[in-house]
Amino acid sequence: MRTRKRISLIGATGSIGTSTLEIVRRYPERYEVVSLTAGSKVKELAALAREFRPKLVAIADSSKAKELENELFGTGIEINCGDEAVASAASATGVEQAVIANVGFSGLRPALNALEHGLDIALANKESLVVAGQLVTSTAKANHASIYPIDSEHSAIAQCLIGENPANINRIIITASGGPFRTWSRADIADAPAEKALAHPNWSMGAKITIDSATMINKAFEIIEAGWLFDIPITKIEPVVHPQSIVHSMVEFSDGAVKAQLGVPDMKLPIAYALGCSTRLPGVERKLTLDQMSSLTFEAPDREKFPCLDFAKVAYERGGSVPCVINAANEVAVHAYLRGEIKFYDIPAVIHKAVDSIEYISEPKLEDYLHIDSLTRMKVSKMISTRDY
Ligand code: NDP
Ligand code: MG
Repeated sequence: MRTRKRISLIGATGSIGTSTLEIVRRYPERYEVVSLTAGSKVKELAALAREFRPKLVAIADSSKAKELENELFGTGIEINCGDEAVASAASATGVEQAVIANVGFSGLRPALNALEHGLDIALANKESLVVAGQLVTSTAKANHASIYPIDSEHSAIAQCLIGENPANINRIIITASGGPFRTWSRADIADAPAEKALAHPNWSMGAKITIDSATMINKAFEIIEAGWLFDIPITKIEPVVHPQSIVHSMVEFSDGAVKAQLGVPDMKLPIAYALGCSTRLPGVERKLTLDQMSSLTFEAPDREKFPCLDFAKVAYERGGSVPCVINAANEVAVHAYLRGEIKFYDIPAVIHKAVDSIEYISEPKLEDYLHIDSLTRMKVSKMISTRDY
């Protein structure tokens, strides 16, 4: 008889968290949830806890602890709060695989916590690899743990690389939808309010990654993510705009052959593949129809309109603590843009200013990342409020 795999789910209330739980709901004979976490949404987390009956829940926002206790009174579910608690929930007793699906820098500690405990992770949180790829991948290696990417492009690349000798990789072609502003002029993009940027043509995702897709810093982050996951220099990773989001990425080999992975644009596919540690779950998604494949187009990204793409190169070449600064500055700038406090192209301006003005650490440790992250958030918030960028 098959035993159920016991998972922890960090970021249960988000878009990836919701899709992950949809898979657990549909395949209850395969998966069991041991711990669930959220940032601050108490009611949503409590409802999930009542449905999935984990051993423990954790909420990052400590001011919500009492409310969560009230919601779950009498259930016997252990309740913890704060960043540490969210990180340790990843490796709660009995967990066999951790799903890291919270957003931004907050994913780093849970990812490291799970890997330090020798647990395989299904990783949606690309920011942890962007910020601290060296630390995350070396922690996985040292503890004989594997990282299974949830990001659809990286899932595609991993599938293309099965059975291949890495020495034969010529280049990785990472696809991008181009986001909602692909066909807009630079002048129109400059004045676009956040609600236009939030209208992603193909994917339904959390607000932060949706804005990251509109600026295309998401693709810069994914290039860095691929570099760490597949141990390949980013000079061999080329972004290509593919508005239909059917080809999730491609790999070109030394003989000229190109392999691609295709599928409907729905995150349940890569999530199920990562949860299965690169095995396939029958019937996860709708089938791709011939009609959907009849007009697949590819074009070079417009770097004038999407200057954030160039942060992949900046992060790669400067290294050290610079990717951490880029990530933190982006998080703060994206939230300011969502609140209508800055304009679209202020996002790259703010990030550049942060990179140029914040101290550099060449070989950061976890404490350094925590320090640089909070320092950048503080300085960038001030820059934005004083319009100094
Ligand atoms: P959402 O914004 O929908 O969800 C984010 C989750 O993180 C929520 O559960 C949220 O809790 C939690 N969270 C927020 N802040 C904190 C914090 N400080 N500490 C702990 N938990 C926190 O994001 P997505 O699901 O869209 O994205 C999650 C990650 O997956 C991101 O890194 C993204 O880049 C990546 N990803 C997402 C894809 C997608 O299709 N959505 C595709 C590929 C990658 P609460 O609800 O309480 O705020
Ligand atoms: Mg992606």
